[in-house]
Amino acid sequence: MDYAAALLTKLPGASRRDLGLRDLLDTLEVYLPKEQVDMIMRAYTFAAAAHRGQTRKTGEPYISHPVAVAQDLADMRLDAQAIAAAILHDVVEDTAVSLADIEKDFGPDVAALVDGVSKLDQIEFHSRAEAQAESFRKMILAMIEDIRVILVKLADRLHNMQTLDAMPAAKKARIARETLDIYAPIANRLGINRFKVELEDLGFRYLYPFRYRVLNNALQRSRGSQKPFVKRISDEIEATLATEEIQGEVVGREKHLYSIYKKMAEKKRSLNEVVDVYGFRIVVEDVNTCYQVLGLVHSLYKPMPGRFKDYIAIPRVNGYQSLHTTLFGPNGLPLEVQIRTRDMHRVAESGVASHWQYKADEKSDATPQRRAREWLKNLAELQRSGTSEEFLESVKVDLFPDKIYVFTPTGDIMPLPKGSTTVDFAYAVHTDIGDRCVATKIDRNLVPLRTQLQNSQTVEIVTSRDAKPNPNWLTFVRTAKARTAIRHHMKTMRTSESTDLGRRLLDQSLKDLGSSVRKLGKVRMKTAIGELGLGSNDELFEQIGLGERLAPLAARFLMGADQAGKPGVGQASLVIAGTEGMVVSYARCCLPIPGDDVMGYLSSGRGVVIHRNQCGNLAIFRKQPEKWIAVGWEDEIDREFSSQISVDTRNKPGVLAEVASTIADNGSNIEQVSVLGRHEDCSVLSFVLQVRNRQHLAQIMRAVRKMSNVLRVSRDCA
Ligand code: MN
Repeated sequence: MDYAAALLTKLPGASRRDLGLRDLLDTLEVYLPKEQVDMIMRAYTFAAAAHRGQTRKTGEPYISHPVAVAQDLADMRLDAQAIAAAILHDVVEDTAVSLADIEKDFGPDVAALVDGVSKLDQIEFHSRAEAQAESFRKMILAMIEDIRVILVKLADRLHNMQTLDAMPAAKKARIARETLDIYAPIANRLGINRFKVELEDLGFRYLYPFRYRVLNNALQRSRGSQKPFVKRISDEIEATLATEEIQGEVVGREKHLYSIYKKMAEKKRSLNEVVDVYGFRIVVEDVNTCYQVLGLVHSLYKPMPGRFKDYIAIPRVNGYQSLHTTLFGPNGLPLEVQIRTRDMHRVAESGVASHWQYKADEKSDATPQRRAREWLKNLAELQRSGTSEEFLESVKVDLFPDKIYVFTPTGDIMPLPKGSTTVDFAYAVHTDIGDRCVATKIDRNLVPLRTQLQNSQTVEIVTSRDAKPNPNWLTFVRTAKARTAIRHHMKTMRTSESTDLGRRLLDQSLKDLGSSVRKLGKVRMKTAIGELGLGSNDELFEQIGLGERLAPLAARFLMGADQAGKPGVGQASLVIAGTEGMVVSYARCCLPIPGDDVMGYLSSGRGVVIHRNQCGNLAIFRKQPEKWIAVGWEDEIDREFSSQISVDTRNKPGVLAEVASTIADNGSNIEQVSVLGRHEDCSVLSFVLQVRNRQHLAQIMRAVRKMSNVLRVSRDCA
């Protein structure tokens, strides 16, 4: 018997309201054989019975939710097991049904998928907290086992976001933040654009309802007025393709809201600047035609120099491929054009999920499946060797890709995270090359190993057979691969070797501070060793030699007694004294500026992070005194720092503009403005500004405080 057809006729109230089942069935029948569709319909009957009587917060019967999740996956042509698991995904969690029941009726594969999704549900993400590392790790591990688990989970989250209105306000914000922090980046990393875009827009909408409304209204208005222009350009391009007898589809592309918002926030553009860019996509049959069409549009409109990107030759890390170019359209309006094949388009929309859709060419290493698999494999290796924190760091680097591309001397392209040094490059080529590197040439010029790489440089590593990794490299390497390899090497060294090495490194660092192990004297060494909770000098040397403790840091600590009172005395031209040879960054939580009392905290993988002494986050770190170094500002600092202030104002028209112009008049750039709160007659505005130092900030705050509509000004600190 045709189970599916029978089910539909039996469905209670099917004619009135089938809760999405009919659409789902229509989609499934296009690409799945009948037995599999029947199996999915059995899953539906099973889940509908289990959820009977339950409703969503929206008032809909609960079964409407798993059906919607299944529909999203069916649209991407996922296999029958994944669709069945999507329909059953909340059954174990929310009803009396057990996993064994599911296994009995639907087999071990579907049961394993349901189990994976249920387990993910139990993970609570506490964004930006330490617990995050462990949660994230579990999530990644689930992905490694079966990527379909995460696809179901993403579709689940998407539908929950689509129906978020019914939730209480506090919950909305938390879920929205988690969606932006965790789920959208994962969707992006897996190349599932259709999920990413919607997750981002919904996350933005619920996290920043006010900004969303303002931006959305403005965007609707401008889109209306742009329509004729977009049509005209599309027609012109289509006509040109036709004269060359090229089959191709031209569409005007709309940027999604969150990407517009991010562009405005990050690049500090006005809405008009961002929106007055017109996007077009041209989809053609094959790769050669892509380049041919590129030539055609370049002859139609003048290309903007430096804006052409060939993501066909160098796909993005998630497998995305396209040609990108920007043209000067009529009246000089910029036209952003993407040119790709149909296959590339499918990959651009569905990423890793396009695998199920069409059996992609597995030989090509550009397939998103292959890339996702490699990524996950690397993560699996990493999580065996690194700490939770390190693991998270590197996952984050992967999820928030800021890649640069450099070349090997033979012209191979090597993608690396932004901020990578030549040592990272060496390890990326091969662990042996990393272990034995002694010098580097960038574009044929010798440079120090710690040099950070820039896009499109050619990098050549000079190796020596006797060379060994230096634990001090840990202070500047960026990639987890390099860090893990260096640590690994250190661990295999004999104790005596590492003790020797550690002693030499420490002496070197002490010398930079005008001292040495001998000069410090036995008494100071002994106290310091005690303070560090170590048994002997050798133990300290060994830790340094093994790369577990950084030499410059230990040197600072040993000097502590006579340095503490006057940090940074006598150091030349550095912004932060006491951090020689280390990567320095400024904590986003407390935004320190010159003149603030600060401390340096050694963060794994990030070098030294400078915090203000009164930063609320310090409490957690205080338990590890060995990770602190005394630091101070240099006298002459020639750069600007971010700082954040809150301004309480009366609700008068134009107040925001007045405050902003006062800030600008006092020589500061505004990086970001947000409205933190709006009450009946007053508002709280928050500004992130660029200032030179405390005096500069104080001057700005004084000027703002004097304004007639300003009630209160304060500097923010976490
Ligand atoms: Mn669910």
